[in-house]
Amino acid sequence: MSRILIRNAMLLATQDDDLGEIPGGDVLVDGKIIAEVGKNLKAEADEVIDAGSCLVLPGFVNTHHHFYQVLTRCLPQVQDAKLFDWLVYLYDVWKHLSAEDLYAASRAALAELLLTGCTQAADHHYLCPQGAGDFFEAEAKAAAELGIRLHMTRGSMSLGKSAGGLPPDSVIQDEDTILNDSQRVVERFHDPNPQAMCQVALAPCSPFSVTSELMRSVAELARKLGVRLHTHLAETIDEEKFCMERFGKRPLAAMEELGWVGPDVWFAHCVHMNQAEIERMAETGTGVAHCPVSNLRLGSGIAPIPAMLEAGVPVGLAVDGSASNDSSNMLREVQTAMLVHRVGTGVDAMSARKAIKMATVGSSRVLGRKDTGRIAVGMSADLALFDLSGLAYAGAQADPLAALMFCGMDSRAELVMVNGQVVVRERQLVNADEHKVAEQAFGASKALLLRAGIN
Ligand SMILES: [Zn+2]
Repeated sequence: MSRILIRNAMLLATQDDDLGEIPGGDVLVDGKIIAEVGKNLKAEADEVIDAGSCLVLPGFVNTHHHFYQVLTRCLPQVQDAKLFDWLVYLYDVWKHLSAEDLYAASRAALAELLLTGCTQAADHHYLCPQGAGDFFEAEAKAAAELGIRLHMTRGSMSLGKSAGGLPPDSVIQDEDTILNDSQRVVERFHDPNPQAMCQVALAPCSPFSVTSELMRSVAELARKLGVRLHTHLAETIDEEKFCMERFGKRPLAAMEELGWVGPDVWFAHCVHMNQAEIERMAETGTGVAHCPVSNLRLGSGIAPIPAMLEAGVPVGLAVDGSASNDSSNMLREVQTAMLVHRVGTGVDAMSARKAIKMATVGSSRVLGRKDTGRIAVGMSADLALFDLSGLAYAGAQADPLAALMFCGMDSRAELVMVNGQVVVRERQLVNADEHKVAEQAFGASKALLLRAGIN
């Protein structure tokens, strides 16, 4: 077990309420854990890292993604489409996906997340075409190789077009298969302990792609197995209309009737929620994965995040899938979150510090982790160091944290550590060659589009 001392940070922004921000701060990492935090620590270490030009943060935590979508970024046919049209077109491409494709896509998504300071990522995978391999094994393997903390969700779709749903019948699974495989994935991959590198949640795709019976049974199964629940909710006005027509209720009320609220549930998006719904989310401790770039890209709207934070709703940040972003750049997501609410609500609605807190402490809470999201003694050693000595930050030394958020063009972290292991050093992946990762994803994308009849 090695000891690493990160010393003399330009600014150590712990995100811990007691420790606050420490100019010239040090962090001592012992094995997987943060052992000491302070100034001028006198400690023996196997490695000393000088952070004199760096802002040191807890690693960002991404609460919602679809890694597989890396392979269908920027398709011209849906660049300007809104969600339902975008989905209907893409389902016909995605139905050709294999587990090997997901492996290549996951490596690319996770590499980009790591390089932009993310140390823990959730993936919502709901597409399991028959006979196409073990998607969850593929994803877990990619994350373990790169050294990032993974929150995998066993997603599902059971309501095909012929039954009034959105996806084509060929990509849906029957409900027994979904429930049995959900249990298998939890038993095989979920580690409930602190410092866990892989956890699993259960995550039907959305109210418009599964039946109400499945939503109910999945909630029961997740609670029996002690894992969390996740789905998309209230992303668009079209979804609201769908819920009113199908259930006679708005999306959150429909979910609540099925047992889908509580501190073990988090929803992606929640763009279209009124004040009463926001208060219900807060009362029940139901979490939100806020995806500002995706909401902007698809024209879905601006989620009422300032009102949610004010009410006490647990809110984390997320890049969403790579076909609606179209990247896994976590730093850009935090910057966008800060900017968009200034337009939506007012210039003082989202400070740089609030946005960073949402992407660290907030996101960890949404994923149910008590051991990540802050730099403090006893926490998992997940850190991101951003070097502010380059051109992108020139002249912005007055406030290093604001510099990272307001200044532009350079998103790469200098060093990233997960569970005490350095996984990005000198702005490069330690456990993979990023050019090979990109090459593999390009190849898989080309082959997938060919199988789908698109060139
Ligand atoms: Zn999504």
